[in-house]
Amino acid sequence: MKLELKNSLSVKLLRVVLLSALIVGVVLSCAQIVFDTYKTRQAVANDAQRILDMFRDPSTQAVYSLDREMAMQVIEGLFQDKAVRKASIGHPNETMLAEKTRDLQASPNRWLTDLILGQQRDFTIPLVGRGPYSEYYGDLRITLDTATYGTDFIISSVIIFISGVLRALAMSLVLYLVYHWLLTKPLSKILENLTQINPDRPSEHKLPLLKGHEKNELGIWINTANQLLASIERNTHLRHEAENSLLRMAQYDFLTGLPNRQQLQQQLDKILIDAGRLQRRVAVLCVGLDDFKGINEQFSYQTGDQLLLALADRLRAHSGRLGALARLGGDQFALVQADIEQPYEAAELAQSILDDLEAPFALDHQEIRLRATIGITLFPEDGASTEKLLQKAEQTMTLAKARSRNRYQFYIASVDSEMRRRREMEKDLREALQRDQLYLVYQPQVSYVDHSVVGVEALLRWQHPQLGLVPPDQFIPLAEQNGYIITLGEWVLDQACRQLREWHDQGFTQLRMAVNLSTVQLHHNELPRVVNNLLQIYRLPPRSLELEVTETGLMEDISTAAQHLLSLRRSGALIAIDDFGTGYSSLSYLKSLPLDKIKIDKSFVQDVLDDDDDATIVRAIIQLGKSLNMQVIAEGVESVAQEAYIIAEGCHEGQGYLYSKPMPARELTAFLKQAQRNHASVL
Ligand code: C2E
Ligand code: MG
Ligand code: MG
Repeated sequence: MKLELKNSLSVKLLRVVLLSALIVGVVLSCAQIVFDTYKTRQAVANDAQRILDMFRDPSTQAVYSLDREMAMQVIEGLFQDKAVRKASIGHPNETMLAEKTRDLQASPNRWLTDLILGQQRDFTIPLVGRGPYSEYYGDLRITLDTATYGTDFIISSVIIFISGVLRALAMSLVLYLVYHWLLTKPLSKILENLTQINPDRPSEHKLPLLKGHEKNELGIWINTANQLLASIERNTHLRHEAENSLLRMAQYDFLTGLPNRQQLQQQLDKILIDAGRLQRRVAVLCVGLDDFKGINEQFSYQTGDQLLLALADRLRAHSGRLGALARLGGDQFALVQADIEQPYEAAELAQSILDDLEAPFALDHQEIRLRATIGITLFPEDGASTEKLLQKAEQTMTLAKARSRNRYQFYIASVDSEMRRRREMEKDLREALQRDQLYLVYQPQVSYVDHSVVGVEALLRWQHPQLGLVPPDQFIPLAEQNGYIITLGEWVLDQACRQLREWHDQGFTQLRMAVNLSTVQLHHNELPRVVNNLLQIYRLPPRSLELEVTETGLMEDISTAAQHLLSLRRSGALIAIDDFGTGYSSLSYLKSLPLDKIKIDKSFVQDVLDDDDDATIVRAIIQLGKSLNMQVIAEGVESVAQEAYIIAEGCHEGQGYLYSKPMPARELTAFLKQAQRNHASVL
């Protein structure tokens, strides 16, 4: 804001001082003039007295001797004085001895001075003789014209007035200059410096101290203002930092520093607008880690975090091909590939991400392997909006995970029908029990001590009226998700125990029954009681029922799992760990769990002859089981060669198509009898 001169403090001061000095000047001048008036009048009287005194003696002489000539000479003498207008000598009661009058002096100021001093003034002294009689002879009378005094009076009054006013003016000017120099000028300087302050960095330029004003109020003012500016800057800085971090928190993932879902949505919105205009495709890839929960449980949450960080870095390595990369939350990431022509480009990216994950992560002196499943949606085919594309990509990923892991999957419209199919299936499954569509098949387990059948594994089957035979891998996860597995699991246990009783009654008294337990069942508090009841109802000897729990299920919550396993074991059941090697078990955990048996996953057994790594793993698991005093069973044994390898490594038991596929109870009874006969004949 520019300061107008007429508004400036010094001009205001000038005005005020000028006005008051003028008033004071005028008043004082007037007083002086009044005093002068008095003095002038006094001077007139004094002059008159002086003149009279001067002419007293000759006048007395003239009146005494009645000498007219002499009197006239005295009068003429008196008239030498210009102020004398009229003079007379004589006795008041007689004709004057001599008298003279002249006209009033002409003066331009008469009108004024006559008002103040009077037009003329009369003065008289008595003329008396010498003592001792002092006889009275008459009077000397003069009349003085005030004009001469008036002119002097006017001149001096004008001088007084003008000098008074000039003095006032001079004083106010001096005051103005002093004020201007002491206050207005430094204030304007401060003002000028203030206007140069950058409101964003208030203390960047400090207000300079003014020379000569370091210690007075101005100096203190500047110092205080500088301190204030510095603290304003500090506060602003703090506020900015807080705002920035809030903004970052709102837009970026805290752990990995990648944009979060909200930020991704904004980025994707823009990408889609461009793609729509240029008629290009966009791929949205949703990457979900397989069993990250297990890793967190098995290692620690810190390790989990480090893994996510390392994973984010690997994903960042692809950013050259990406339009956006974000963490959706938990173990899910989203990648956006803008400007692609064909879906295979998205498939290539997905595959290269999966390939990238092949290399294990080295953390805390251990190597951790991550696997991921990727759901892919394409713009514009699978959806026109950010929400749709993201939602479907996540759905696709979840669905793909449920089927098999470590792969990518495109959304395509059929996924939607798959979802519908699943929902239908869920509904059907709830009715399957009443409708007798469920049954158990049994697969023998062979002991490598004497190749006798020592146990069977009960496996659930669902004969769907329209869909045909639905594999358990498809419907068990459904039942686990909606909790129906509890009912289903109890039914399986009941069926299996009833069947085992039957076989025991038929003479296969050493036969053991293995039943699969879902993790949901394991964590159900009623399970030990249910198992206990069944063993009693069917009068089954302890250790004739074996419960298979999966490794990943156990690792989710080790301490609870350990408690539940203990109470299961107390009820008399054996515990086997199924699909061993596919999860992330560590030795220490394995040791702390009450387990009786390890079941090597069929994927290792099947490749044992072709893949050195798998062979090593199988050997290691067998060694591990032995050292922990556990039984080891290999599942998925399909060939004699595989059998030979695992037997050579010291595996205790085997299960697989080599011996038999899972079959219904009646067929298995025949199988058992046949096996018994063969065994007997060998013996
Ligand atoms: P699992 O417990 O590991 O069962 C072994 C699976 O391997 C069975 O598949 C069996 O048919 C198959 N298998 C056996 N020998 C061979 C072989 O030599 N080669 C090949 N390629 N496969 C072989 P299935 O019956 O389809 O069961 C799949 C999974 O479903 C089971 O894996 C188990 O986890 C689950 N499951 C089956 N029945 C039940 C049940 O009653 N309750 C629960 N909770 N899960 C069940
Ligand atoms: Mg099993
Ligand atoms: Mg298995």
